[in-house]
Amino acid sequence: MAKPVDLLVRGRPVVYLAAGVALPDELAARTANLDRYAGLDSQLALMPNARRVLLTSARPAPLFHYVLLWPSDTALDLLDERVARAAATDDDFAGAILAEARHVTCLGCEVVHRVLAFEAGMPPFGVGSWMRDAPIAFVDACPSCGASWRTLGALAVL
Ligand SMILES: [Zn+2]
Repeated sequence: MAKPVDLLVRGRPVVYLAAGVALPDELAARTANLDRYAGLDSQLALMPNARRVLLTSARPAPLFHYVLLWPSDTALDLLDERVARAAATDDDFAGAILAEARHVTCLGCEVVHRVLAFEAGMPPFGVGSWMRDAPIAFVDACPSCGASWRTLGALAVL
């Protein structure tokens, strides 16, 4: 049974959850922002271009749950294998964009959507490499009414 893996990316601790790996209760209990992900774990665990990660801020606790997104043609099953045998390198994460689950209310139709929104502020991921290395498009219009979402920073609608 596959488990979460502790690794270092750019020298910072990252807990990596491969596709299909459940978040263990012991880690969930130490994660501060899990309320944002209520009911989403099985969906996120199966997204082909996404992997769940737990990161720390300045202190070792608590953990914070985020989602790394890669371009849709990235072979993340191979990354899962490299992580499992401790062979992943910083380069494996160069094309990833960090995102967090959020509720957003569309200003056009006032429908509340759950999205994965761009997150700039959590090392070792974030601004610096993502514009250059990660050609992932933002969701630019509401899937319900078509209103512009250009300022929302939504990377995926859940
Ligand atoms: Zn809308």
